[in-house]
Amino acid sequence: MKVFKFGGASVKDAAGVRNVAGVLSHFLQDDLLIVVSAMGKTTNALEEVVWAYGEGRDTRPMVEKLRAAHTAVLAEVAPGDEAAQAALDGSFRELQRTLGQRSSGRVDEDYDQIVSLGEVWSTLVVSAHLKHAGFANTWFDARTVVRTDGRHRAAKVEWQACENLSARYLGPLFAARPGRVLTQGFIGRTAEGRTTTLGREGSDFSAAIFAYLLDAESVTIWKDVPGMFNADPKRFADTKLLSHISYREAIELSYFGASVIHPRTLQPLQQKHIPLYVRSFVDLDAPGSTIDDRSENDSLIPSFIVKPGQLLISITPRDLSFIVEENLSGIFWLFAQRNVRIDLMQNSALAFSVVVDDTPRAQELIAELRKGYEVRYNSGCDLVTVRHYDEPTLAALTTGREVLLEQRSRTTARFVLRS
Ligand code: ASP
Ligand code: MG
Repeated sequence: MKVFKFGGASVKDAAGVRNVAGVLSHFLQDDLLIVVSAMGKTTNALEEVVWAYGEGRDTRPMVEKLRAAHTAVLAEVAPGDEAAQAALDGSFRELQRTLGQRSSGRVDEDYDQIVSLGEVWSTLVVSAHLKHAGFANTWFDARTVVRTDGRHRAAKVEWQACENLSARYLGPLFAARPGRVLTQGFIGRTAEGRTTTLGREGSDFSAAIFAYLLDAESVTIWKDVPGMFNADPKRFADTKLLSHISYREAIELSYFGASVIHPRTLQPLQQKHIPLYVRSFVDLDAPGSTIDDRSENDSLIPSFIVKPGQLLISITPRDLSFIVEENLSGIFWLFAQRNVRIDLMQNSALAFSVVVDDTPRAQELIAELRKGYEVRYNSGCDLVTVRHYDEPTLAALTTGREVLLEQRSRTTARFVLRS
């Protein structure tokens, strides 16, 4: 069995939904578990609904826009499918009911109940279209199997429970061959029955969860780019395809900010040695990228990742005493408590420097740190990471730029540049 994942960009409109059927027509003999994200920018739109709901503003126009958009695509790709239309209407009615009640005050929990619907709607539409196009499939509620803890918006998977649920509810759907099951990315459910989400862009991770549970032969993420590249093709000319890299390398690249795959996706796949393919849904002949155990190609091409909008913070004890363990553990605690992720760190005798995303949370953290430390910062920096660097690549990226901080290991060079 193969697991396929189609992201929001691939199903953003009727043409995108039809294209999914086009892709599947090349895999008629395969058992497929297909994971689909919310259509286009639906998740962002639903986030706006959540914020408005929390503030007691009128959400009806926003919801009506989403309803109209999904209904229009459904009518186009699966004309006359009354069952699908009824399911879609039912889901929107339920949303209206929720929004008609007062917010629980638990924003993250409300968020998950509301934002998860984007995936429900998209899978109803895609499933209906596939049937219309002659691809029999079972619409499956991912929450039946993806059991999580109750950390809303950042839920953790409870693997043992998932395995039991999968064997019971999902496995049997593949008894008849070829089995074709269509389900949602991004969403899960607690043992108490509350919907949870796995974090933004979590659908790749969902695909990996299902692959792990079903012992899939492979996962394919279908994207609007023909694979993983050594730099963001939208930002740099002359980028090169990484045609074959290891899980480890892909984890490093995604950790440092390469946004092609969600960092957490790789771990479950690595555990079961399931290869991941990243391929183009517009160019089916393009070879794409393969990610698996083999690492011999990892160092062939320097890869570079640029993260703009970074804040370089330098923290010094007020009395110029040394930065020691007690200071560091206190500082780390503040970062963890405020959920500010450190992208790079470096220390000298007197100063501890970190690079973080420039967000309101980070600014609040600076104010907090200033109670005990002398804090200086530079905003608007670029954090540049180069894996398997060579001097020409480093020169190309840093020449003429002011380097505020530099760090090199054998495999990775990192620079904080003033922009
Ligand atoms: N729809 C969710 C998001 O936009 C999950 C995903 O697309 O991976 O974040
Ligand atoms: Mg997405």
